[in-house]
Amino acid sequence: MNVTTLPKPPRVGLVSLGCPKALVDSERIMTKLRAEGYDMSPDYAGADVVLVNTCGFLDSAKEESLEAIGEAIAENGRVVVTGCMGKEAEVIRNRFPDVFAVTGPQQYEEVVAAVHDAAPPVPSPFVDLVPEAGLKLTPRHYSYLKISEGCNHRCAFCIIPHLRGDLVSRRPDAILREAEKLVAAGTKELLVISQDTSAYGVDIRHQPRFWKGESVRAHMTDLSRELGKLGAWVRLHYVYPYPHVNDVIPLMADRLVLPYLDIPFQHASPNVLRRMRRPANDAKVLERLRNWRSAVPDLAIRSSFVVGFPGETEEDFAYLLAWLEEAQLDRVGAFKFEAVEGAPATSMDDQVPEGLKQERYQAVMALSARISAEKLAGKVGSTIDVLIDAVDDETGGATGRSKADAPEIDGEVQLRDAGGLEAGDIVSVRVEDSDEHDLYGVPL
Ligand code: SF4
Repeated sequence: MNVTTLPKPPRVGLVSLGCPKALVDSERIMTKLRAEGYDMSPDYAGADVVLVNTCGFLDSAKEESLEAIGEAIAENGRVVVTGCMGKEAEVIRNRFPDVFAVTGPQQYEEVVAAVHDAAPPVPSPFVDLVPEAGLKLTPRHYSYLKISEGCNHRCAFCIIPHLRGDLVSRRPDAILREAEKLVAAGTKELLVISQDTSAYGVDIRHQPRFWKGESVRAHMTDLSRELGKLGAWVRLHYVYPYPHVNDVIPLMADRLVLPYLDIPFQHASPNVLRRMRRPANDAKVLERLRNWRSAVPDLAIRSSFVVGFPGETEEDFAYLLAWLEEAQLDRVGAFKFEAVEGAPATSMDDQVPEGLKQERYQAVMALSARISAEKLAGKVGSTIDVLIDAVDDETGGATGRSKADAPEIDGEVQLRDAGGLEAGDIVSVRVEDSDEHDLYGVPL
């Protein structure tokens, strides 16, 4: 028998930092490299080159990125840097003169070329037979679906438009094709992400494309409806409360899209929102939330807030607390304002002292924990659908999420007895107990 020995493929290690959008970039780069015959290395020692996908959103994220680059250089030595911090090649090269290459966000070709230089691909007649299936860095049962890049807004605390440019929307048929493949490969939950999901398609004038014989506009409503028809859970992130969001609410009532909205309000006080230059900043938001909830009573709303933005007064902060009390959001994340180099807010007058930021942060966290605990207690005794994320072989229990919980950022549902369940299963669960953030129950 003739045995053909294949050449050993070069191996790429990956350190992926930052938000789900950066994770999708990492997936895209690794998919391309894998299609070219590269293998992934789970550790520094086995890698021929290490790719560090950085986050440069906040100064603390930049520092974390620099530490990751330093660790990769110390452990391996051949390091290619990409992602948001790639815009600051000078800073990286000054601190790490040995870095192999630095490329910016979305420069897929450049990253791949840099990996070729650092660890040349091995020519193999078999590589062309490898199908170009997407590589996923999330578990098989949920996937992030990036529908656009960049942003047309200019919020005073944010440098994303500077890093990633203006809004560039993907074609709806391309997004749907990717989603269909993911569902066919086992994805049970599609998480729609972008910088501003409500603005999807504005840059391409919502131009329609044909998908399965029907015209589908590049618009959040059309896209959500078609995604909903694929049969997986569809979760919408980064939705700004523009009036046209009203149109996706019926899709939630029809169970095509999860009754869940991730709306980055960031603040409630009109003065602070004006200084922040936030989009969709109008006084009707609370009324809109009320209307949405009356159409979809189990709608879960999550949001994030910044406290201590320059110029935030005691009155502004009291306004925020009163607003939160009235809005009764299901999930709240809070952040202390952090000065970001290059963001207009960094040089604004009336910076809030750190101690006061901390006090306000704790007040928001305490209030939102109380509201969350009350809302979760109201679910005890009900039956909910749960998507299983992990089964613990030692305890026999399992961890999953309800329709109200996005992975990583929201709560969990803990099951004492998994009883043969596997990650990716969707089961009915009777809720028996709750705390500030999580539910506890038994599968039916
Ligand atoms: S909407 Fe504002 S915070 Fe969000 S990416 Fe655009 S500029 Fe940044």
